[in-house]
Amino acid sequence: MALIVQKYGGTSVGTIDRIRNVAKRILELSQEGNQVVAVVSAMSGVTDKLIGMAKEFSETPSERELDVLMATGEQQSIALLSMALHELGAKAMSITGAQAGITTFGSHTRGRISNIDPTLMNKYLAEGNILICAGFQGITEEGMIHTLGRGGSDLSAIAIAAALNADVCQILTDVDGVYTCDPRVVKDAVKLNDISYDEMLEMASNGSKVMQSRSVEFAKKFGVVFEVRNSMNNNPGTIVHEELPAMESVAIRGISIERNQARVTLTGIPDQIGYTAEILGALADAEINLDMILANTAHDGQARQSFTMHANDLGRAQAALKPVAAKLGENVKIETEAGLAKLSLVGIGMRSHSGVGATAFKALADAKIKTGMISTSEIKIAVIVDESDIDEAAKVVHKAFNLHEINEIEDSSI
Ligand code: ADP
Ligand code: ASP
Ligand code: MG
Repeated sequence: MALIVQKYGGTSVGTIDRIRNVAKRILELSQEGNQVVAVVSAMSGVTDKLIGMAKEFSETPSERELDVLMATGEQQSIALLSMALHELGAKAMSITGAQAGITTFGSHTRGRISNIDPTLMNKYLAEGNILICAGFQGITEEGMIHTLGRGGSDLSAIAIAAALNADVCQILTDVDGVYTCDPRVVKDAVKLNDISYDEMLEMASNGSKVMQSRSVEFAKKFGVVFEVRNSMNNNPGTIVHEELPAMESVAIRGISIERNQARVTLTGIPDQIGYTAEILGALADAEINLDMILANTAHDGQARQSFTMHANDLGRAQAALKPVAAKLGENVKIETEAGLAKLSLVGIGMRSHSGVGATAFKALADAKIKTGMISTSEIKIAVIVDESDIDEAAKVVHKAFNLHEINEIEDSSI
C-alpha cells in the first residue's frame, strides 16, 4: 500500500465530465489498495472570474477580502469531486486548507506555508477516506483565510506530500509533462523524461507556468521527488528530482517564455555616489518586482540605468521614479517601453558547455530578431525581445540546440 498525493489543475476539473473522469482515476488507485490525497484547483477560469468580480468594485480591492473570495473557487471543486466519488461508491471527504492543518504567513494573496499539522489528515486517512483537499489555501495563526499566489495548488500538493511523507507525488495537468518549451508555442517541443530541481525552478520562475516556482523551491528544500503528467491519459510524465551527473551532457534542457514585460530607463543621471540606492529604494517602497537591471558606466559625467519588470507594474514604477528623477537632477529623463518579452535558455549543462550564448544569438540574428537586455546565471541565459518576436525566437533557438531530439541525445550519452 502506498500513500499517493496527486494534484489536479483547473483544466483537469474544468467540467462536470472531467470531474467524473478524475473521480474514476482516483477510485482506481484506491481500489488498488493505495491511500490517496487529491489536492484540487478551482475549475478553470473560476479564479479569474472571482478576481474580475472583485475588480467591478475597485481596481485595488482589499487583499484580505480577495483571499476570502478566491478561496471559494477551490471549495467548489473539492466538494464536487467528493460528491462524484460518492456516486461511484467510494468513501471520500473534502477538506479545506485550514482543515488540512496548513498554517501560513506573509501578505494576503501571497501567503507562504509555515507549517502543516497532518494530524487530522492522518486520522481521516486511517478511517479509510480518500481525501480531497483544497489547493491554493491555508490559514494564518490568527485564523484568517490566506491564498498562496497564482498557481499555488502546486505548492499545496508538494507541501502536503512532504508533511505526510508520501510515497508518490504527482502533478496532473493538461499536457504530458514538462516540455523543452511550451508545446502550445513550439510544436516540436518534446516532453522531458526528467529534469533537475534547479532547471525546473529556473524555467518556472522565467515563465513556464506548468509548475509554480515556489512549489519547486519547496520540493527542492524538502527533497520531494514529483512527477508532472497528464490527467487525461496514462502516458509517463516528467520526473523532477535532484540533479545527476549525466544530466550535464546536454547544454540546455529547456526554453522559457515570459510575455508582458516592460522596461524603464533613466537617462542623464549625474554621476554621484548613491543614485542607484535612491532609485532602487523608491522602486522597493512601491513594491515593484524588478527582473533585469542594467547600469551603464557614466559618460560625460552622466549615467543611465534600465530595469525590466512586468508590464502591469510600469505605471506604478513611473510614478515612484518621478520624484527621484526630479531630486537627482534636471536632466534626468524617464523613458518607458512596453510590449516586450523574455526568452530564457535553461540547463545545468551550461556549466560545462561553452558557446551556448553564441549559438543562441546567432540563431536570433539569422532570424532577424532584435535583442535587448541580457541577464545570466550559472544555468540560464535570458534576453529581452519584442513581444511580437517571442514565438519565433523560441522556435529558432529550440531548433538551433536540436531540442526536439533531447531525450535521444541524453540516452546515447549516458
Ligand atoms: P494546471 O491548471 O494543471 O495547473 P497550467 O495551465 O498552470 O495547468 O500549466 C499547464 C500549461 O503550462 C500547459 O497547458 C502549457 O501550455 C504551459 N506550459 C508552459 N511551458 C511549458 C513547458 N515547458 N512544458 C509544459 N507545459 C508548459
Ligand atoms: N486556482 C488558483 C489559480 O488559478 C490556484 C491554482 O490553480 O493552482 O491560480
Ligand atoms: Mg498551474
